[in-house]
Amino acid sequence: MKEIFHRLDDVGKNDFSLEFMLHCEELRIPLLAAVIPARLSAGVARFLRDSQYVTVLQHGFSHAEWVDGRNDEFPATRSKANVHHAIKCGRSLLEDSIGKQINGYVPPWNKTAQQTISVLEELGFSTISGDSETWALLKLQTTMHVINISIDCAPCHLYLAVAIREKESIKEEIEILKQNQIDPIGVMYHVHELKPEYQRKALDLIESLTNDFQVVNFPGLNRET
Ligand SMILES: [Zn+2]
Repeated sequence: MKEIFHRLDDVGKNDFSLEFMLHCEELRIPLLAAVIPARLSAGVARFLRDSQYVTVLQHGFSHAEWVDGRNDEFPATRSKANVHHAIKCGRSLLEDSIGKQINGYVPPWNKTAQQTISVLEELGFSTISGDSETWALLKLQTTMHVINISIDCAPCHLYLAVAIREKESIKEEIEILKQNQIDPIGVMYHVHELKPEYQRKALDLIESLTNDFQVVNFPGLNRET
């Protein structure tokens, strides 16, 4: 059976993301959650602390664009010491809030600099998850385990978090990618700002993909502290 994994981005506030994660938990669907440390609410932290099926990865610090970084929180123009400090603080904040170790990282906008990769390696992160296209474009190199996503459930970047694609088109894309790719295919979701008419669709989508494909998990990313 073809292998996939689910990655939910921009988790932190008490919005539809929490409902989406609760749905996955109830159906025992393994899900990676890219959590923004500076946006983490007490309610979401409580859920993540007890969750069995949602694995937390760090998603930047505040997901804010750096002054001269286009869609990048940690561009090469930001000093390495400053990047190190921000990522380390973010990890401590997450670990203290959910009571589990954080070993995986998702760059905001899936974009980062080689310098930030070095910082993550120095801080002992074991795994990074960006998107395969940007990763290849930036020619990033790392000793970490790379689990990039290849599929975006948003219809286009302008509608990133408000709408969701038809499940048939996503399934077709998985089938095409599977012909050339051995690794599990990563599927990225943004649901925090979904319009109400797309919310049911998003829940149906993840359930349907889970029924049709083998969903892999990444144990060891969140050991209990
Ligand atoms: Zn993001």
